[in-house]
Amino acid sequence: SAKKDGKNRCLWFEPTMENDLRFRNQLEQGLRRALAESQFEPFYEQQIDLDSGELVGFEMLARWDSPELGLVSPEIFIPIAEEMGLIVELSEQLVSKALVDASGWDPSLTLAINISPVQLRDPWFAQKLLKLLVKHNFPPQRLEIEITETCLHDNVAMVRSMIVSLRNQGVRVSLDDFGTGFSSLEQLRSLPFDRIKIDRAFVGELRDNEGGSRIVDAIVSLGRGMGLPVTAEGIEDAQMLDALRKMGKLKGQGYHYGKPENAEQVHQRLLASGLAIAAEERSEFPAR
Ligand code: C2E
Ligand code: MG
Ligand code: MG
Ligand code: MG
Repeated sequence: SAKKDGKNRCLWFEPTMENDLRFRNQLEQGLRRALAESQFEPFYEQQIDLDSGELVGFEMLARWDSPELGLVSPEIFIPIAEEMGLIVELSEQLVSKALVDASGWDPSLTLAINISPVQLRDPWFAQKLLKLLVKHNFPPQRLEIEITETCLHDNVAMVRSMIVSLRNQGVRVSLDDFGTGFSSLEQLRSLPFDRIKIDRAFVGELRDNEGGSRIVDAIVSLGRGMGLPVTAEGIEDAQMLDALRKMGKLKGQGYHYGKPENAEQVHQRLLASGLAIAAEERSEFPAR
């Protein structure tokens, strides 16, 4: 189910890990060091217009290859960084790198970033993000932020004003992992999202073709009814893609198009399709 899939992002960490204090301590120390040494790397997953098959942008996904612990999943380190009060700094570090990377992409390509509910509780969040965009000379229209549904009930009024000020500046806001959280349809209606993303737990139902697309169908019609475009995440094979394409007008992403890649791999991919901007053509060429 969606919950088993680790989508309960409001929970701090898994109960089994709660007992493992040593691992927990290692993680905490590792995280502080990782932040100081800038060990976090943005990876990028392609986002595709399913009708045309064209690349429309990338979602940035945090990666941490710890010298002590090896690769640690963001589903583990993000919640701990939230709890330790490090998420704001961590996100700033990653987003700065991502803005530099994305400045080398064709301007038609968007950058989507995931934002933690803890960051949304910071009244200065929108202002800080917009400042970062100015610093990197990055058009707000090319940025999309993804908010998970799971934590929306926290403070609807505040989330709402945050979304409004970001949208006023041209940033678009998506509701991520739709269907896995607790937000009511009323809340969905009252928050001005630009897009909803169907969680891959539901998209996975398309795999066996046993008429299992009912939830996906329902979410797509819900989105259409509300005038919201829809992205399907977790497209893993041609069969899933086919089922989604038949619904029309969707965007999608998933391992079918390849695993998330680092900045250099993305750059090579874009060079090959004429979508990379040569260094000398870039107005600014700031270091990360
Ligand atoms: P998400 O935003 O829903 O991201 C999608 C996750 O599904 C990513 O896992 C991605 O690698 C994975 N995925 C994509 N396509 C497929 C597929 O076809 N099959 C399967 N099985 N998986 C697929 P990842 O990178 O481990 O990230 C997990 C979650 O961690 C993200 O879920 C997001 O909520 C959070 N996260 C990642 N990076 C950041 C970040 O920089 N900041 C914050 N606040 N959260 C982040
Ligand atoms: Mg996301
Ligand atoms: Mg998602
Ligand atoms: Mg998801």
